[in-house]
Amino acid sequence: MRLSQMLFVTLREDPAEAEIPSHKLLLRAGYIRRIASGVYGYLPLMWRVLQKVSQIVREEMNATGAQEVLLPALQPSELWKESGRWDTYTQAEGIMFAFTDRQKREVSLGPTHEEVITAIARDMIRSYRQLPMHLYQIQTKFRDEIRPRFGLMRGREFIMKDGYSFHTSEESLKETYRDMDRAYRNMFTRTGLKFRPVDADSGAIGGSGSQEFMVLAEAGEDEILFTEDEQYSANTEKAVSLPMDAVPSSFTTFETLDTPNTPTIGTLAALLKCSPTQIVKNVLYQAVYDTGLTVLVLVSIRGDQDVNEVKLTNELVRVAPQFGASTLLALTVPDAEAQKKWAAKPLPLGYISPGLEDDYIVSSKSVHPKFLRLLDQTAAELTNFVTGSNESGFHTVGGNWGAEFPKPERIVDVRKARPGDRAVHDPSQELKSARGIEVGHIFQLGTKYSTRMGATYTNEQGEEKPFVMGCYGVGVSRLAQAAVEQNHDKDGIIWPVAIAPYHAIVVIPNISDATQVSTAETLYADLNAAGVETLLDDRDERAGVKFKDAELVGIPYRVVTGRSLKDGKVEVVQRASKASQDIPIEDVVTTLKQWVTDALQ
Ligand code: ATP
Ligand code: MG
Repeated sequence: MRLSQMLFVTLREDPAEAEIPSHKLLLRAGYIRRIASGVYGYLPLMWRVLQKVSQIVREEMNATGAQEVLLPALQPSELWKESGRWDTYTQAEGIMFAFTDRQKREVSLGPTHEEVITAIARDMIRSYRQLPMHLYQIQTKFRDEIRPRFGLMRGREFIMKDGYSFHTSEESLKETYRDMDRAYRNMFTRTGLKFRPVDADSGAIGGSGSQEFMVLAEAGEDEILFTEDEQYSANTEKAVSLPMDAVPSSFTTFETLDTPNTPTIGTLAALLKCSPTQIVKNVLYQAVYDTGLTVLVLVSIRGDQDVNEVKLTNELVRVAPQFGASTLLALTVPDAEAQKKWAAKPLPLGYISPGLEDDYIVSSKSVHPKFLRLLDQTAAELTNFVTGSNESGFHTVGGNWGAEFPKPERIVDVRKARPGDRAVHDPSQELKSARGIEVGHIFQLGTKYSTRMGATYTNEQGEEKPFVMGCYGVGVSRLAQAAVEQNHDKDGIIWPVAIAPYHAIVVIPNISDATQVSTAETLYADLNAAGVETLLDDRDERAGVKFKDAELVGIPYRVVTGRSLKDGKVEVVQRASKASQDIPIEDVVTTLKQWVTDALQ
């Protein structure tokens, strides 16, 4: 391709809309264009990158025996109602784009495809002889993200590879899950990225085991906790650890103390000269279930610890049946506005006790009349603890569960693991933290969807059984940007060769120099003929502009038909190292061909 003819516009300045380097660089280098919030056009260079990523994904999927399909993005609500996910995905913080068509039917744009694929399997897979079966697609997904940001990292329209496998048993599922683990490691290794597989939460998709693949980068939205012995790594959302030991409390009698201006653990610990590990902190949440019922949740946790809202959400989904609900729509910390709707009187915020009376809740059909009291393991173990008194400016000390405070029925683990905690598998190992970008996620779903949707096959004994399922995603467009986030310098992008839009760019410093032009034209044709994908910068621009653009765009190898032509040579520059060498013109094709081959090994 000739740059003079390509849709190629670079920007000198950082666009105001972008915060992180990869987003800035993809905009500046003319790879993408924003059309609306979280919606981007993929321009010619970007499309080549996306196709390369897709091809690597496709090859690794095909190698496992998975079959490629293409399913509709437009989905009828009936299927989502069968699986029970229509409400969760369309109400409150639901992320599905849903609307009514001209026949007044409810439809949505697929954020994921469990429902559609399960419906197809239900119709077409009748016998155990057809199993296991694994189908995948590479397709545009739609999610009305609450906070679309960072360009392709969190779009509202993006490209995903999603695969779904069907089995007769958990063992067969586990086998495919292991194959996927291997295939994913191969894919991400081939794209040339530094990544780490981590234990993950299964979230709204549901199911048992799940693992994420994280591209390591500072700007990553996810925090990873890992141990240096390589035995443990998990998304913070999921991570478990041993908290540090609590300091034994010196408050041996129960009493109420005047503690003015101590609404935070820090101010309270300073005033009482005690350790935050001796304090029971009581955090109020507001949960809205799919029945519309609001439940107020009081979580008691050790003062030095924080609540992990993903673990809390999972716990609240677990107890949903006790409120006649099946799932949670929203979980928030109620602000003043929200409190107005259910608080019968002003809450003693900052001084809440585990015994906060239920009469703080107004009587209303849509609000559960009692607090759901959850006690985190860390707080359950404390004795003679310090905690709120329900009166602003006062705390109690020397309190005990089962004495001054009834012990909440549900003891749970909703604590956030954090760096510095000891590892469960080996307490001598400390958890370390890194940031990552989630580019892949594999799940063991089990029979959740097949049971709900009545998707069964006939087993050897002639019985109808629900399919055991797995699902496997790759964020294709997110991965492409993650590659830039991990590989750039102050001058621009540094593409790994495997996913670079082109391998080489031939730059003509001065297009009015006939020798420069003819040498470049020959090299351009010969390189492409040899399979080295090559761009030609034949634009009528100053040499400096061309060199800057070449660095910005990040093509791995740059060939310059400049000064060394008089010696029968051209300058060849490697983008990553900026190492430059003069190579005889007749050796350029074989040299670059070799470099590309080596890089793709
Ligand atoms: P996240 O936690 O980042 O919101 P997710 O866990 O909801 O993602 P999955 O349902 O696991 O996403 O989707 C599979 C893959 O699709 C993810 O691993 C990620 O790489 C990609 N992906 C998910 N949401 C987006 C998005 N809004 N924009 C771009 N890629 C996305
Ligand atoms: Mg995920």
